[in-house]
Amino acid sequence: MYDREEIYINGKWIKSHNKERIEVINPSNEEIIGSVPAGNKEDVDNAIKSAKEAFVSWSKSDIGDRIEILNALSASFKEREEELAQMITAEVGTPIGYSRTAMVGTPRVVARSYAKILETYNWEEEIRNSLIIKEPIGVCAFITPWNFPLHQIIGKVAPAIAAGCTMILKPSKEAPLSAFILAEIFDEIGLPDGVFNLVTGHGSEIGEYLAKHIDVDMISFTGSTGAGVAVSHAAADSVKRVTLELGGKSANVALEDADPVLVAKKAIQACHQNSGQTCSALTRLIIPKIMEEEICELIVERNNGYIVGDPLNEKTRCGPMVSAKQQISVTEYIQTGIEEGAKLISGGTGMPEGLSRGFYVKPTVFTNVTKDMTIWKEEIFGPVLVIKTYENEEEALELANDSIYGLSGGVWSKDEGRALEFAKNMKTGQISINGGFFNVSAPFGGFKASGNGRELGIHGLEEFLEIKSIQR
Ligand code: NAD
Repeated sequence: MYDREEIYINGKWIKSHNKERIEVINPSNEEIIGSVPAGNKEDVDNAIKSAKEAFVSWSKSDIGDRIEILNALSASFKEREEELAQMITAEVGTPIGYSRTAMVGTPRVVARSYAKILETYNWEEEIRNSLIIKEPIGVCAFITPWNFPLHQIIGKVAPAIAAGCTMILKPSKEAPLSAFILAEIFDEIGLPDGVFNLVTGHGSEIGEYLAKHIDVDMISFTGSTGAGVAVSHAAADSVKRVTLELGGKSANVALEDADPVLVAKKAIQACHQNSGQTCSALTRLIIPKIMEEEICELIVERNNGYIVGDPLNEKTRCGPMVSAKQQISVTEYIQTGIEEGAKLISGGTGMPEGLSRGFYVKPTVFTNVTKDMTIWKEEIFGPVLVIKTYENEEEALELANDSIYGLSGGVWSKDEGRALEFAKNMKTGQISINGGFFNVSAPFGGFKASGNGRELGIHGLEEFLEIKSIQR
């Protein structure tokens, strides 16, 4: 059992002021695997006080010390990789291989990338008679989701440490466990007391309280667009900096000269990875009408062979949904797709064959989708791919941009220059051409309702800095 009795404030493990507990459930077998404290406002006040006091010295800390901490953090992730991967698979249901690489491997590389950035980062510059100084913004509050629990945390914590900020983390209640390991690591590697504080609890209570608090200088939120809007409202009166990483409904576009086999091969994984519970998943596949038959045939074959089941089985590609709520929501979207007249070509409602327990859904693909359909417009956050055809490239672009979101995207073409031109006209934050790999040093963030601000790399660091100009 992963039971955690205490939260982490000012370098100490202490009891929460609230006796209530939050249970953590393994979505692959519906068993309770642990519980964490439901921290309250008093806990948050203490965490903020400790972060405020620690800021005085940490904001002036030696850059070499910050580099050491970030490298030690990265090394600890390597040492505890298997433990963390097993834990995240148990709370989220992610296939174990993917947990090792994406859930733990990526945070390890991100932590190291910030140590590297600090080696050469320019904290001062001259513009004519002005000296421009970059300073840490102050006390930061982080509210994070369950889908990539550790990665979403490190995308905020690592640049904040690099910048010289102090922080309070409120992880999601579905997947809070890796945050406790993170606090243990900081304790071991000697991060000064109060720089990192952990309070678990309910978003609507302590999340909003953090966003409102006058002594929090910045709030960085990752999660659904609805909760992001609530956080923005709560933060408005104190005029703090707010960065938001929200939802998506990203387009994957095959241009007319794309290789249909390659498109079909990659489209399923680009949508279904992490059981489709990926904010940057490419969930709308946009293809030339003339390729429809060939691509759909290949996609049905791949989707039918996409192995769903026990996430601890190394062959599994798709684990369960994180919770019963998420399973119900995804199933309702599939039902709505059928009722609104889309053509179901693979998957559907109900449990996948051979499974009777766990929050599973069938990986699903729809064609004949129209622009007014719910499954075209809304983020489903499950393994549901919708396919739409186009007659010409102008229409393809119009369809790609036909979303309130703009987080991610894909373009396929034998001519990279042509794909690049198309990508430049897409209203979205990051685009992969012909399956280009995720880059931990490139800025990550959204256009439109997908949020504001950027994480990762130098752009992610600069979100945590204030800029001062001194004229002489
Ligand atoms: P969620 O919005 O329900 O919860 C996210 C976090 O916000 C949790 O810690 C939760 O406790 C907290 N929260 C909830 N309501 C709150 C409120 N009123 N005030 C303050 N905090 C509140 O989202 P989720 O279900 O955990 O995650 C799924 C969503 O996150 C999807 O929409 C997905 O697209 C999005 N997401 C975006 C990114 C990105 O980088 N853009 C990454 C991962 C997930």
